[in-house]
Amino acid sequence: MNLLIDHLEDCSTPNYFSFAIRCEVCGEFWYSNSIPFSKAGQVTDYVDKKELYDVLYQKEKQRAQLAAAKEAREHFSQCPICRRLVCDSCFLICDEMDMCKECATRMKEAGEPVIP
Ligand SMILES: [Zn+2]
Ligand SMILES: [Zn+2]
Repeated sequence: MNLLIDHLEDCSTPNYFSFAIRCEVCGEFWYSNSIPFSKAGQVTDYVDKKELYDVLYQKEKQRAQLAAAKEAREHFSQCPICRRLVCDSCFLICDEMDMCKECATRMKEAGEPVIP
């Protein structure tokens, strides 16, 4: 879980929160569901509330980050051999131990990807 949070790249804008993770094997990006900021679009209307909205933004961002990490857990696994974070297309279910595609090739292990 913490590993996933460390790997989340912040793609948020002033109006919504979004995070991405890059698979360390194939290099493909996965994006979390974007969550709108509750005060999106209103920030410029209330200049005097900017400070309050900034704090609110950070709070909601933290929550969105946790949600993204939880979501990412369904799509990524950590390879027990190389310790990299890999997407389901690069993570193989092998007989003895599940591992990433590159480690499996190196060790000549046969396996099926989680998502073919
Ligand atoms: Zn991948
Ligand atoms: Zn590996």
